[in-house]
Amino acid sequence: MTLTLDQTTSRFPIDGRSRQMFIDGAWVDAVSGQTMPTLDPATGQELAQVPRSGAADVDLAVAAARRAFTGPWRRWTPAQRQLLLLRIADLFETHWDELSGSDTLDMGKPLSRSRADKGRVTGMLRFYAGLATTLDGKTIDNSLPGEYFSYTRREPVGVVGAIIPWNAPTAASVWKIGPALATGCTIVLKPSEEAPLTPLLIADLMAEAGVPDGVVNVVTGTGVEAGAPLAEHPGVDKVVFTGSTATGQSIIRASAGNLKRVSLELGGKSPLIVCADADLDATVPTVGLSAFANSGQICIAGSRLLVERSIHDEFVERLGDYARALTVGAGSDPATEIGPLVSARQLERVCGFLDSGRSEGARVVAGGERLTTGDLAAGNFVAPTVFADVEDSMTIAREEIFGPVISAMPFDTLDEAVERANATPYGLAAGVFTRDVGRAHHLAHRLDAGTVWVNTYHALDPAVPFGGFKMSGYGKEGGVEHLDEYLGTKTVWLKLD
Ligand code: NAD
Repeated sequence: MTLTLDQTTSRFPIDGRSRQMFIDGAWVDAVSGQTMPTLDPATGQELAQVPRSGAADVDLAVAAARRAFTGPWRRWTPAQRQLLLLRIADLFETHWDELSGSDTLDMGKPLSRSRADKGRVTGMLRFYAGLATTLDGKTIDNSLPGEYFSYTRREPVGVVGAIIPWNAPTAASVWKIGPALATGCTIVLKPSEEAPLTPLLIADLMAEAGVPDGVVNVVTGTGVEAGAPLAEHPGVDKVVFTGSTATGQSIIRASAGNLKRVSLELGGKSPLIVCADADLDATVPTVGLSAFANSGQICIAGSRLLVERSIHDEFVERLGDYARALTVGAGSDPATEIGPLVSARQLERVCGFLDSGRSEGARVVAGGERLTTGDLAAGNFVAPTVFADVEDSMTIAREEIFGPVISAMPFDTLDEAVERANATPYGLAAGVFTRDVGRAHHLAHRLDAGTVWVNTYHALDPAVPFGGFKMSGYGKEGGVEHLDEYLGTKTVWLKLD
């Protein structure tokens, strides 16, 4: 089956291949009239043009979100917001083929994987729906003389600016919009310029579900032209950001003007520790998938592999076999296990890391190159790559690659493995592979990472918090803690006598 754009957007208000963006419940062009292309990473061909917005468009979207925040939406009851989120979840289920197809076309993810995300994404929406009716404050016994009653309320923080990357457009949009709606905030979402189509489709579903005008706005544009004005905007109360650590740092600086609150889900360089007693049959594919899923374009990609010396050579050889057996191709091909990288720029970046690995002395066990045979020549394809003989000091062992590349290194003692695993500015995730339950907990407690997976990887659930330590950011997504990012605590005092 060949997937086409029309199949993914049959219900979308389209004019040829140009798209509009969604502000205050209406489909609009950029004030400047400028547009920008979004490309199919499997073929390099243009999929559509979207508005290339700037500060003036961000102003309009933020003003709409502010009006909506102070309007009737503010009086919606938690139960009404809950029903709205449940309707959105139902619509996502009905239109999942369009949503997943749009993700695949725009950022290259294999269709089988986009489709498989349905339960997780609709589950997220239903989880936030459930939380909408759990917002509570406290009554607090105070010690003032006389009779005073004091209590707290948890109130929506206000207008949220959400800036997301391209590697999981549907899930990233829902992780921002879901808690905003559950808490009664309003939101301006700025998708990545590399994959803006699904968030626009989501805006359409929001309107169909009955989200009031201005509550959810989607503004397309580049990071510098649209993202930065949103991060700086004095009318935005909170920025929720997912993306690279460097951009996260500029968002913090931009937030200083009005001291807006910020939460950040940033990059990673996640270590995997494989002990000699691990079940190798199960561990090889789990480690492989941790590094190669989504072509390694996942913040949690397991990219530093520490293997106990006694099994190192066998493990690396088996991982190389696993990598070579993966089918690389267009995301829309049902046989594809590994799709293209999102853009020519990303391809160039990843190939630069492959070159640096070789020139700094690492040994290529599998892959190590761009794929250009047949149809692959037109797209951004890289072979799943295993490097061995890697030193901790090498560029490929230190920097986030965001491509299908894993670097293997032997270790001798657990203390050494922990020390080397933690020797990174990042702290997003880690993996431990062992049959010894005591060792598993011991390692999990000592690793500096927001999430540690044992004998598994990528397990995510809306009820379970996710977020980084160190330069992987702060704030949690998922779990009941997630709502704290969108709420402020207000204290009320009453004099009773
Ligand atoms: P990026 O930082 O380049 O871009 C992310 C978003 O920020 C895009 O929408 C972009 O337009 C915008 N942006 C860029 N510059 C900006 C600026 N100066 N001000 C405001 N907005 C700006 O990241 P990317 O290349 O799109 O995504 C890859 C990165 O995202 C990786 O580092 C990856 O680890 C990280 N990521 C983290 C998580 C997580 O949950 N921790 C999840 C996915 C991706």
